[in-house]
Amino acid sequence: MPAKRTPARELLFGDLWEYDPAPETAKAFIDERYGLFINGKFAAPKTKKYFDSISPRNQEKLSEIALAGAADVDAAYQAAATAFKSWSKLPGTERAKYLFRIARLLQDRAREFAVAETLDGGKPIKESRDFDVPMAAAHFFYHAGWADKLDHVTPGRTLEPLGVIGQVIPWNFPLLMLAWKIAPALAAGNTVVLKPAETTSITALKFASILQDAGLPPGVVNFVTGAGETGSAVVNHPLAAKIAFTGSTAVGKAIQRALAGTGKRLTLELGGKAANIVFEDAPLDQAVEGIINGIFFNQGHVCCAGSRLLVQESIANAVLSKLKIRLRTLRTGDPLDKNTDVGAINSKAQLTRIQDLVASGVSEGAEIYQADCKLPEKGYYFPPTLFSNVSQSHRVAREEIFGPVLSILTFRTPEEAVEKANNTHYGLSAGVWTDKGSRILKMSTELKAGVVWANTFNKFDPTSPFGGYKESGFGREGGKQGLLDYAKLQ
Ligand code: NAP
Ligand code: MG
Repeated sequence: MPAKRTPARELLFGDLWEYDPAPETAKAFIDERYGLFINGKFAAPKTKKYFDSISPRNQEKLSEIALAGAADVDAAYQAAATAFKSWSKLPGTERAKYLFRIARLLQDRAREFAVAETLDGGKPIKESRDFDVPMAAAHFFYHAGWADKLDHVTPGRTLEPLGVIGQVIPWNFPLLMLAWKIAPALAAGNTVVLKPAETTSITALKFASILQDAGLPPGVVNFVTGAGETGSAVVNHPLAAKIAFTGSTAVGKAIQRALAGTGKRLTLELGGKAANIVFEDAPLDQAVEGIINGIFFNQGHVCCAGSRLLVQESIANAVLSKLKIRLRTLRTGDPLDKNTDVGAINSKAQLTRIQDLVASGVSEGAEIYQADCKLPEKGYYFPPTLFSNVSQSHRVAREEIFGPVLSILTFRTPEEAVEKANNTHYGLSAGVWTDKGSRILKMSTELKAGVVWANTFNKFDPTSPFGGYKESGFGREGGKQGLLDYAKLQ
């Protein structure tokens, strides 16, 4: 009897191809307990309360974080207001030196910060190591370059700092969002009170030690930790000259309402439901890589994720079968493992949200495909998921899932692609895959999105402004436009 043959695909992707574990071994140096970072020092919160920070990787407690109340937030603002008097008067060349120093110190401790970010937030170590930490340093380097050139930004006019900036950031890119917020604010001569997200405060608190080592004057940057109530105290403090918020559209709207009539400046970076549009003339294998990266990068916890795939009908079957094959090669599991592609979901609450939306996709009639992958027993994990036969009315096509879930829709003509892509109340990003340059230009003018990537996806650079239209917010971060949002023109 002839031996039973193993199908080629199983030989390629089956058990034979199991990798040995390859955990990153650098130490994260996380303190057992962190106070608030106010006026250059760590101090116990006036509330005397702390909350646990756990790792979504295995649900183990990493540290205790101080819970800042209104009186603590007030102390941070007072420190920032005092520091503003001298920091805003420093020559730009001097401010630049601090920013360069911060960037270099972060580079020196890159491995340690990458491990801390992965433990605290659940993202794969290869992403925190190769993306989050280097990009955070790049933002400080870039804005150090602006600090002494503010007089040349708008010829004939001068830029003045605004004052104390209140900043509130989310949990998906904790250190990078901190860098996006702090670097331009400091370069322009402002001082800062920043609240990290409740589930991911650790790298901000470790970053405080970099500020100390850089000799940054006390009070220029202050960190107040806590949840939504602390965020609300930051947003509503009377000393704030501007609020810079990144997070959900619902909270962004509440902040806009709260600030109406106060004269405070506001920038909002909110949610998204980006269309990643693939035309029949696109190089398909490259497009498939772009689609995978567009949605599974950082477990899909990305505001600009390509979460709605719009594929031209003539190639829809081919793309779907290539995506299914590719999904089977994605390694989901321990984020600290250097071979992991998709790590842990940031929190139990987020996991529940993803599960609920995926259940709605199934019950509304979309067709689900999940690669057969073994998930760790402890920790929060969700398998990479595709939905085909999705219609525009399905919740999975309309709502931001913020998880590793791709919804696939089809189109026949470029006009239909534009119409479907813009049929959302968000407008943060979009992607176009085609061989035709003229089509790229046409699509990028017609797509209502702050960023349009062509034949690539999720590419970032400090020089390139990022921000949204419609309910994705307003204001820009990065580039000259981002800097202008932290200054007033005189
Ligand atoms: P979120 O609930 O809006 O939280 C964002 C931040 O605001 C957190 O620090 C949060 O505190 C704080 N917060 C909550 N309620 C507040 C209130 N009433 N007043 C002031 N601050 C408050 O959003 P998330 O669920 O953490 O983040 C995911 C969302 O952010 C997604 O919708 C995503 O698209 C968006 N996002 C956008 C961008 C962008 O650049 N456009 C980037 C990343 C994420 P706690 O979390 O500590 O409770
Ligand atoms: Mg955590």
